Amino acid sequence: MGRRQFLSLGASLGLGMMLPMQAMAASGNYDAMLLACIDPRFPKLTIDHMSSRSMIGKYSQFNIAGAAIGAVAPKFSGWQQTFWENLGASIQLHNIPAVIAINHRDCGAAKIAYGDAAVATREAETATHRDALLAVRSETVKRYPNLRVELGLMDLKGQVETFFF
Ligand SMILES: [Zn+2]
Repeated sequence: MGRRQFLSLGASLGLGMMLPMQAMAASGNYDAMLLACIDPRFPKLTIDHMSSRSMIGKYSQFNIAGAAIGAVAPKFSGWQQTFWENLGASIQLHNIPAVIAINHRDCGAAKIAYGDAAVATREAETATHRDALLAVRSETVKRYPNLRVELGLMDLKGQVETFFF
């Protein structure tokens, strides 16, 4: 196949966009694992957020209903070993120094996990997410004391409120 043919095939398969990524390896030094919810409204907003931080291509991502809530709520206890094992795999493969946990407002999984009252007001909702995020951080540092854990709560427009403690 001639170069010209290859280029045209590449363009039709979208390879042109993928080529710059070939320099990045399946293992190596990446910046973080992102923990996010499965809610269909948020993948785009989350990419936009990570893009605004110049982190595209620099983090692994684990999605689970509720984000931090899915990783710690007793209601979802059957899921949680999978999260910890994936975090362990990402540490091993990607040498990540940080976890970025981003919960979001109006989260259906928060209601399933803790009931309607837990998110009935903005204040209650904030407290519910903050508690789950804090629990993820304390569980994470128990297992990996050197890992930095960033805690955020995204609104429906993609603005992230970061919790510092
Ligand atoms: Zn959610």
